[in-house]
Amino acid sequence: MKNTSFVWHPNTQMNEWDKFGEIKSAKGVWLTDTKGAKMLDAVASMWCNVWGHSNSELVKTIINQSKKLQHSSLFNLTNEPAEKLAKNIVKMSPGMHKVFYSDNGSSAMEIAIKIALQYWKNIGDKKKTQIATVENGYHGDTFGAMSVGYVPEFFGKFKKQLFSTVQFSIPNKYRLPKGFTLLDYQNYCLEKIEKRFSKNDDIAAFVMESGAQVAGGVMIYPKGFQNKISRLCKKYNILFVLDEIATGFGRLGSMLQYEEQKSIPDIVAYGKMLTGGYLTMAATLTNKKIYNSFLGEFNDWRHLFHGHTYTGNPIAAAVANENLKMYEKKHLIKKIQKTAKIFEKYYQEISEIDIVGDIRHKGMLMGIELVSDRMKKTPIHPKKSINKIFFEEGKKQGIYLRTLGNIVMLVPPLAITENELDLLIVRAIKTIKSARSQVV
Ligand SMILES: *Cc1c(COP(=O)(O)O)cnc(C)c1O
Repeated sequence: MKNTSFVWHPNTQMNEWDKFGEIKSAKGVWLTDTKGAKMLDAVASMWCNVWGHSNSELVKTIINQSKKLQHSSLFNLTNEPAEKLAKNIVKMSPGMHKVFYSDNGSSAMEIAIKIALQYWKNIGDKKKTQIATVENGYHGDTFGAMSVGYVPEFFGKFKKQLFSTVQFSIPNKYRLPKGFTLLDYQNYCLEKIEKRFSKNDDIAAFVMESGAQVAGGVMIYPKGFQNKISRLCKKYNILFVLDEIATGFGRLGSMLQYEEQKSIPDIVAYGKMLTGGYLTMAATLTNKKIYNSFLGEFNDWRHLFHGHTYTGNPIAAAVANENLKMYEKKHLIKKIQKTAKIFEKYYQEISEIDIVGDIRHKGMLMGIELVSDRMKKTPIHPKKSINKIFFEEGKKQGIYLRTLGNIVMLVPPLAITENELDLLIVRAIKTIKSARSQVV
């Protein structure tokens, strides 16, 4: 059958799909399509849903705000929800001072990079023009975000147009170089970073995801690694820029990974869960030192040249405020820490499936890496996209999955109940077992 829709889907070989299941409504962790089939939302609608779908408080907030003010810009004006939200997020973010709004995570990271580069200009430093990054980092799909991220499979086609960065290796526990223990390799990586930092003072900022790399393959940093990088940045006068878009707001079991990792950044970006997964909004925060460097006379031309049409949208800000209020009222972080233990019950059963090479889990995130040869750790590589195979098998089991290459991602809505999470993992295991014959 020919696909007659006019929609071009993200990261999708359109030729593989005749049509896409149409979701008509959703409630809690369940998505319902037009045929009435229900699927458990195992990817939190692309890693952003917090309270489940159709949450009455969030829906009410959207309705109430949309009756008062739908959009009014932050160009020359302000609005109450955006003001309140900025205050709330500065209050919950140690070391941060101001909030710059945008509509999506990629933009929030573009803004972080622009602020970092301009900071050095503002204070008259002409040498600091390079950005340091880590391999397999992911910060979004726009050009600046691709440049500082660079996952080779995603961005290879644009390599020539991406700006160059100073890229460092980070420890990957599953694929350590021969002869290294994890600790040895971590120290080796840190030494390399320090060596480069001390060689030349051209590095403006070091950019990394906070706590773990997610899209780059679910790489959870070893203990102390992020803290040590933040200390190296201080020592060598390099801005430390963190991306909490996927990992903050409870995904890895704490409100902010940078607090847990004892690594206060100069600039940090939030996105995905900020509005509970209901509307599109992101934020870039900076400390006082950076913000102050942008102040001056108008003709000094040192203000931040950046702005989006929908910046500080009042409906998105209102729902973000309600979302944050509910985190406190419902002790969400505590609840996540308890619920996340459910994953551990299944480690054994999952690892016994012969195509499972590695399980990487923290908080409400689990990546199950599939390999065709466990000894050689060869990623499975079927003809069809792995994602499509698992999506279709998952659908039969009543679960919505979106794999990341050969990694099955379990990224549930954060407030999922223990019983629902049990069901989700059981269905994911069934899916892996039933899809097995199609991928090896
Ligand atoms: C999703 C993501 C982004 C990009 O956010 P978008 O809203 O998709 O543009 C940036 N950084 C990380 C770590 C992400 O997971």
